[in-house]
Amino acid sequence: MENDKKEMDKNDHRVIGKELDLFTFSDLVGPGLPLWTPKGNILREELDKFVWQLRSKHDYSRVTIPHITKKELYEKSGHWDKFSEELFRITSREGKEFALKPMNCPHHTQIFARKPHSYREMPQRYAETTMVYRDEQSGELGGLTRVLSITQDDSHVFCRTNQIKDEFLKIWDIVDSFYKAFGFTLRVRLSFRDPKDSSKYLGTKEIWDMAEGELRQIATDRGADFFDGPGEAALYGPKLDFMAKNSAGREWQVATIQLDMNLPERFDLSCVNEKGEKERIVMIHSAITGSIERCAAVLIEHYEGNFPLWLSPIQVKVIPVRTQHNEVSKRHFDILKENGIRVEFDDADENLGTKVREAKTNKIPYWIVIGDKEVEANKVTLESRDAGQLGQMSAEELLSKLLSEIKNKN
Ligand SMILES: [Zn+2]
Repeated sequence: MENDKKEMDKNDHRVIGKELDLFTFSDLVGPGLPLWTPKGNILREELDKFVWQLRSKHDYSRVTIPHITKKELYEKSGHWDKFSEELFRITSREGKEFALKPMNCPHHTQIFARKPHSYREMPQRYAETTMVYRDEQSGELGGLTRVLSITQDDSHVFCRTNQIKDEFLKIWDIVDSFYKAFGFTLRVRLSFRDPKDSSKYLGTKEIWDMAEGELRQIATDRGADFFDGPGEAALYGPKLDFMAKNSAGREWQVATIQLDMNLPERFDLSCVNEKGEKERIVMIHSAITGSIERCAAVLIEHYEGNFPLWLSPIQVKVIPVRTQHNEVSKRHFDILKENGIRVEFDDADENLGTKVREAKTNKIPYWIVIGDKEVEANKVTLESRDAGQLGQMSAEELLSKLLSEIKNKN
């Protein structure tokens, strides 16, 4: 840890996260358990909102599950055996064994299984942004990239075999739209079984061969930039793992889409098909951000803290030149606030230069300055962190500029 600190460069997300007051750690709470500040929480919510906006277009529904479960759920899913070292276990006062959830899929199967489903109701698409907990060794923890509490924007699609390709492509579209907004280019790893050790996985060779074949076909048909990743599969099935690269050439592992023919088998999940017969279904697991912690770390480093307007915890700062401009400035502040802009009012008894410097240090995308000239013209002077002086404009012009930039995620 000591070494780590010495070598940390100024663009490390841990350094910027502290400077911009996005998250913190407490010795009392423990390492690997980030605490999100009011500003950091805005970042989390904006990312989640964006994913949800994209998912909504494809008819996902939100669900909610408890964070613990009886041991029996994981015995049935296979996690109690295969995932046991990373499970946080809890014993109730009556001596019953529970575990903190390390993933959401087993719980979600029980929502699907609550009633029979006709083929007409398929697919069922559940989404939930929620924390999972994994017992990592403390030596491996640091910043947001390895944590014990991980927020997944998780989704499970329950579908028929003949719907796999369509559903994969829809999720792939969501992944593309999400990462394009940040200017990343994507390539895809086909994360398959370790050919030398099949004991790590659930299910038969036939099921795996079929699932892996399906994924390779989808990636080929899509004309994607893909490569093989033997040994990188999930416990229950093969995955498409997405790598995002920025213009500076840095690359991070981000989203994942996973095909699972094993959990439906274990939990006996089916639908009733056109012939009135019980038909085994499949599950598709996906997370667009990967995890919100990881995604936040990636974006903090990618932007070096200079978030685009829509993602910035504080979007605009209102700066009166002197105290006699406070009243007019406050009116501008109110208009922005009422219109949903995250705005800060700087009425500190400091000179203009200090206030502007402070806005720049906090990497706020815009600030407006209001002095004698502005009051007289009934306008504000807009300055941008990235583009410098933008001149005078009316309150309406400012608002419409900001709202359109936020909407378009510029
Ligand atoms: Zn899952």
